[in-house]
Amino acid sequence: MIVFQSLTKAELAELLLPLSRIRSSRHPEADDPEAAAKLEKKERKQAAYRAQQIFHWVYQRFVTDWDQMTDLSKDLRNWLKENVTIFRLTEKVSQQALDGTHKFLWTLHDQKTIESVIIPAALQEKDEVGSDAPTESELMGQGKRFSGRETKTAIDSQKWGRLTVCISSQVGCAMACKFCLTGVQGLDRHLQTHEIVTQVLETRMRAPITNIVFMGMGEPLHNLDNVAKACQIILDQDGMGFSKRKVTVSTSGLVPAIDELGKRVDVSLAISLNSTTDEQRSAIMPVNKKWNIKALLDACRRYPLGPHRRITFEYVMLKDFNDSMEDAARLVALTKGIPSKINLIPFNEHSGAEFKRPSDEVVKKFQRYLGDRNITATVRISRGRDILAACGQLRSIFGTARGTEKHKDWAGLKVQAVTESAQATEDQSLG
Ligand code: SAH
Ligand code: SF4
Repeated sequence: MIVFQSLTKAELAELLLPLSRIRSSRHPEADDPEAAAKLEKKERKQAAYRAQQIFHWVYQRFVTDWDQMTDLSKDLRNWLKENVTIFRLTEKVSQQALDGTHKFLWTLHDQKTIESVIIPAALQEKDEVGSDAPTESELMGQGKRFSGRETKTAIDSQKWGRLTVCISSQVGCAMACKFCLTGVQGLDRHLQTHEIVTQVLETRMRAPITNIVFMGMGEPLHNLDNVAKACQIILDQDGMGFSKRKVTVSTSGLVPAIDELGKRVDVSLAISLNSTTDEQRSAIMPVNKKWNIKALLDACRRYPLGPHRRITFEYVMLKDFNDSMEDAARLVALTKGIPSKINLIPFNEHSGAEFKRPSDEVVKKFQRYLGDRNITATVRISRGRDILAACGQLRSIFGTARGTEKHKDWAGLKVQAVTESAQATEDQSLG
């Protein structure tokens, strides 16, 4: 069986081509090449149209049963039933946090688990230097509850503001960054294209997702083929139709793969810089020994971003390691001339970690230093473990500071009490 979500629309059309062959007792191609070419063109058009119809059914209308695709012929539906399967992820855990963050743990066919997390806009916006923290009413305005599927119209009308899903690209990760829990676990396996695409599909069946970030488990560019192809499918305007600005791939810095990504798909790029000197970076990110900061930043300069777009530099702040004013000054110098913004991520402490999170004051000072030099720097401050967003990294990236009683109904689900076991899940899951 072929898995539908592993196919681009063009590949699906190719697959459907033999079914579109126009049978006729007279074979024009035998004696008339021009007629044959015409016929071939017609058949290809027909196959492409069918592929488009199927993309609409699955990715826009969320229909996963071939029999319900009423505008396809019975023959075609039967053929699809026998040859192509629509993959589903099994929900193992679906957990709503007080702040509106919603975590999904999916079980794969080999019983391994991966994680996707939905993060409402209110948690990502703001925090830019100069702007005030969001007010309660602003938060409530953006963190509206929704129940089940929303129509595309609702997304287009911005009714929900921004709703980002953070997806995984591998089970575990081979890059062994010292501060990261996933890194400590090592790589189990790459995710297949369809396992990546379906994280977006499944979450979109449940919520009106507007943005995608590859910041869950794994190093996306270590799994370039599957990630690039998944991006292509996600961006297909006949499919889920995400815009290139709304899909961001985050990498620890695999330089040749950054170049290759830029050639294959048009998506936004985030770089986990995390340090300002090679010595410092190599100490926490082994990848830096292969491609140092200069090589990495050169790759950023080469990346075909297009006008009015910026690279995001992620900077995990580790207490007394990379949080000094000298670091801030070097960061300004390093990123000079690269259209970019900086995302400061105060370290999310996990058991066994050798690092600590800097104080809020230190983070603010660092941010202010950057802001004073006209650098856009956002900061995500998480205030402890009072909620259930059981994902270390993500929670740290997107913050949990402003969870309120009112937010708990986001997605119409009840918040569960923080229990010992939930705490344990948190420690075991993403870094
Ligand atoms: N492998 C990719 C994407 C996944 S990691 C990458 O490294 O870019 C997503 C982000 O989480 C990275 O910027 C990483 O630096 C950050 N991160 C990992 N562990 C963290 C922790 N314990 N606290 C804060 N941020 C963390
Ligand atoms: Fe892998 Fe990213 Fe974690 Fe590094 S930070 S170990 S690249 S997931």
